[in-house]
Amino acid sequence: MQRDLDVLIVGAGPAGIGAALTAHRRGLRVAVVDKHSFPRDKTCGDGLTTGALRLLEQLGIRVPAVARYQRVEQVVLVSPSGRRVELPLPEHGEHSAVVPRVELDAALVEHARAAGVEIRETHALTGLAERGTDTRAHAEKGGMRATFADGSTDDARFVIGADGHWSTVRRLREPNRPRDLGTWHAVRQYFRHVDDRRQWVLFPEELLPGYAWVFPLPDGRANVGFGVLREDGTKGSSATKGKQVADLWSRVLEHPWMREILGPDAEPEDRTSAWPIPAAFDAARLSDGPVLYVGDAAGVVDPMTGEGIAQALETGVLAASAIAGSPAIAVGGAADAVATRYTRDVKRALGRDLRFAAALQRVLHSPLGARASIATVGLSGWTRRNFARWMFEDYPRAAVFTPDRWKRGMFTAPGAYADAGLRSAEQ
Ligand SMILES: Cc1cc2nc3c(=O)[nH]c(=O)nc-3n(C[C@H](O)[C@H](O)[C@H](O)COP(=O)(O)OP(=O)(O)OC[C@H]3O[C@@H](n4cnc5c(N)ncnc54)[C@H](O)[C@@H]3O)c2cc1C
Repeated sequence: MQRDLDVLIVGAGPAGIGAALTAHRRGLRVAVVDKHSFPRDKTCGDGLTTGALRLLEQLGIRVPAVARYQRVEQVVLVSPSGRRVELPLPEHGEHSAVVPRVELDAALVEHARAAGVEIRETHALTGLAERGTDTRAHAEKGGMRATFADGSTDDARFVIGADGHWSTVRRLREPNRPRDLGTWHAVRQYFRHVDDRRQWVLFPEELLPGYAWVFPLPDGRANVGFGVLREDGTKGSSATKGKQVADLWSRVLEHPWMREILGPDAEPEDRTSAWPIPAAFDAARLSDGPVLYVGDAAGVVDPMTGEGIAQALETGVLAASAIAGSPAIAVGGAADAVATRYTRDVKRALGRDLRFAAALQRVLHSPLGARASIATVGLSGWTRRNFARWMFEDYPRAAVFTPDRWKRGMFTAPGAYADAGLRSAEQ
């Protein structure tokens, strides 16, 4: 069956679902395709910041009701010297949570489907061509023709590439571009029998400016992992890098801090899984004719923390809003106006935060910089509380330097779901 859509979204992760719900709400004819069937895993720390939780709430998704939701109340940073700084999170509303992506992403797909969005699973995109060369009618409409693994096709005025780091959409549009191995390389493994319920972020010297984490999950489970910066995302043998990463993982697990946090009974539940993190934001690569890129396909991950779920949701929402808000949708073609608006909106919403985070990441390169930063965070109750809000994207990273985004109460607002009174234990 071939349809004529306003927008075809490739990828049903957070970026794709954020775009799909927005497009559907705005009255666009939209369909989402994903090469996997849900539930499917995505290698991730599973951490949801305040920013991500608020965006999910705005999209109508009750995340605290999702299976295996774990509310976080206490965060601990460990500096390269071993100094620990505890960060209390505000009580009013959800400020940090952990939900396995296998559950979260399936819940997002289910929610979008219940809202009326058409989602086709095990439907991989394999080809993408500009429409307009075959018939006069197509030339007037503009847009793209997408081909799928089963040979079927769809026509769409716009395509949103929400297909993650190894974006097929990008590869089909830029076939000669070298393979991008990502800015960060990160590893995750689930453990069981972990008693500590705090969210740990550890900065051992050998990982800087990267870090290791232990994120709590219900039933004594934990998501454990680390991320390291790649020296050059486009060079080097991935096999060698893979071996180095495996060695580093063994060292991280043997580290005395890690052994203490995991406790004597902890045992791995599954194999390690590794995935790149794209954090080299380039506004010029957000669009390409009638194609808009969102989430990891757009490289909008926070370069300091490696968090990308909030950014994926936000770029998804902005891309669909740019398409819905443009008169181009009524007349076809005129992709430039949509691309210009989308690029402007992403730069305004995220560009300055991503640049600021990249600058801060450079401070964490040296043990001295990392030690000094964590010592500053731990100076007083006020610094600890406010750093926790800043770290969990309670407000934009570079908010202090961008007065055009200031609004009343932005530094003291309640977390997500504050009015719903939801708590994971009550579900
Ligand atoms: C180890 C690790 C830890 C992380 N920890 C965190 C964290 O704690 N918090 C946080 O906020 N972020 C974290 N991130 C980043 C976060 O995982 C990503 O930024 C986020 O998943 C991006 O969402 P997305 O929707 O853009 O892409 P994805 O979640 O990757 O979704 C892309 C979708 O596209 C589909 N797809 C791909 N190709 C095709 C095709 N050809 N046809 C159809 N569908 C296709 C895939 O099946 C997939 O469902 C971490 C990343 C890593 C690697």
